[in-house]
This record gives sequence, C-alpha cells and structure tokens, in this order.
Amino acid sequence: MARLTREELQVPVSMWREEDMIAGERAEAFVLIFRTTGCWWSYQGGCLMCGYNAASSRAVTIEDLKAQLAKATERYRGERMVKLYTSGSFLDENEVPPEVRDEVFSAFGKADRILFESRPEFITDDSLSRIDCARSAIAIGLESSNEEILRKSVRKGFTVADYTRAAEVMLDRKVPLRTYLLLKPPYLTERAAVEDAISSIQYSSQFSESVSVNPVNVQRDTVVEALWRRGNYRPPYLWSLVEVLRQGKEVSGCRVMSSPSGGGTARGVHNCDRCDRKILDAVQRFSFNQDAGEFEGLQCGCRKEWAAVMDVQDTMGTSVDISRYLSSELEFD
Ligand code: SF4
Ligand SMILES: [Zn+2]
Repeated sequence: MARLTREELQVPVSMWREEDMIAGERAEAFVLIFRTTGCWWSYQGGCLMCGYNAASSRAVTIEDLKAQLAKATERYRGERMVKLYTSGSFLDENEVPPEVRDEVFSAFGKADRILFESRPEFITDDSLSRIDCARSAIAIGLESSNEEILRKSVRKGFTVADYTRAAEVMLDRKVPLRTYLLLKPPYLTERAAVEDAISSIQYSSQFSESVSVNPVNVQRDTVVEALWRRGNYRPPYLWSLVEVLRQGKEVSGCRVMSSPSGGGTARGVHNCDRCDRKILDAVQRFSFNQDAGEFEGLQCGCRKEWAAVMDVQDTMGTSVDISRYLSSELEFD
C-alpha cells in the first residue's frame, strides 16, 4: 500500500498510448491507470499473484480521483479507445464513486469505447443500467475456468459460476467482454498450466469478444514471489505461451491475445536470451493478426529444455522450478 502526499494522490499512476482493437479493427488507445483505494479483495489477502495494491492508497478521496481525471484529460488526444485501469473494480462504488464514474464517461466523450476492469460481483443488471453500455467494454480476470485451480492456485475469491453469470448479464446488455486468463498459476506443472489455459480459452471465448492470456509476472510481496525466491516457482516459458495461443486459437471463436508484462525477464514469461525478443515479437504480431503462422519456424536450443521440463515435472509429480537445477538459473533481481 503506497504512502503518498496529497499532491501525489492527485496524479494518475501512469498514462500512455498504445494500439488495441475494437470489434476486429485496429484502434489507437489511451491507457490510464487510476490510483484508487484499491481492490476490496486485496484487503482480504487477495489473489496469490497480485501485487497491484502497492499502487493503491486508502487515503484517496473523491477530490483526488477528480484531480487525476483532470490530469488525464489534459493528456487525452481524442483516441477512439480509452483503457482505464484501477487495480481493482471500476464498478465498485466504494472504489470509484458513481459521480466520478459519470465524469469519466463525459471526460472521454470522443472515445467510442471505454474499457475498464471489474470483478464479477459488481456486474449486475442494475450497475450496467447506470453506465453508458454502448461505449463500455469490461475486462474480467477469470484467470482459470477450473474451479479448483481458481480456489487453490489463484485464491480468486469468486467462482467460475460468478464469472458466467456476469458474462451473461453483459451479453444481455451487449457490453463486450475481455476475459483475462492467467498462464501458470502456482502449484501447477508447466504442462498442466498449458492445458488449463487452453481449456480456459475454450470456455471463456463463448462469452468474450477477446481473451487475453496473461503469463504470470512475479510481483513484489506476493505469495508467488515467496515461492519463486525459494525455487518452487518458475514463470512460464515463452514456448508454453506460444502453445497456448496456437491451440487456444483453434478452439475459440474470438480474438486470442497476449501482451505479457515483464516478458523476457527472470520475473516474467521467458525462454533464453537468444530467443525471447523474437518470440515476444511474434506474440505481439499474432495478437493483432490472429495468424498462427507467426509461430512457424521459431526455433532455439532452449526448446529442448522446455520439453524436458514438461516431461520431468510430470514424471516427478512436482511443480518446482526444475530448470534452476538444469541450468543454475539462481540469480534473482
Ligand atoms: S481481483 Fe484483481 S486486483 Fe483484486 S486481488 Fe485479485 S488480481 Fe488483484
Ligand atoms: Zn531460446
């Protein structure tokens, strides 16, 4: 939890521009990370991989949120898409009061689409009736469509049924859904993680306009970080991500994408220094063009290590980071 001055509380955590897609068309997006009081679930221990509440502060007031919004509108250049992240739920009225929410929709009046995140418990017919559904898109972090993994490996605090109910309410109101899935929650072998992500893509794509696969990025002061430091966790290989996107695309009817944070670093999805960049570039191109041909011909010596980890972990029935013992990857930043 951040300890900040009033002045700091009145500035968004971060703002930048990037490209995204609206209903299959490339679009410029303005991205804004709002500092709020944070996700209510993080106060209950939160998800095992989540360190987002480091950017939140209990001291944030309505005036601070309005001041952040004013700073964001100064930087906004009329991009068609606005992505507004709160490190929590935009529809949680304790986090973003309705008055601020309404101001967001008018401040970005030129945007055709405003994408924000919410946990499913805040997505109801009533809450959707209070926002501009025609310009909204909502991202839900389902992480996995397997109840047991969701409970034990993610500690999500909601069920797949909760997600499904929220997704159906959104379908009724024609609000596009982006589902986030987590690639390789802790306690899963590399192979089990790949299989879980593919079946989760298959399940969630029936409700979603797009599915975004987020490989675990080891964040500070999380359970996942503690496991990683002890050698009991390795973030997924990029080879696993490629498999998930390739096979996931085959079993889904929607856009499948990934924009990995920390890609190519020890804390993020990575293979080896020789191939990380080239594979991350292929992932980025695939995320826009949906052409699995981007992954053809990708080769590197480390693919053998990945195949060995998939087999050895299965044989030993363990999810510990075997690659550390194979390649003495003992350095932590
Ligand atoms: S629901 Fe999202 S913001 Fe809240 S603890 Fe989980 S990952 Fe973090
Ligand atoms: Zn490699």
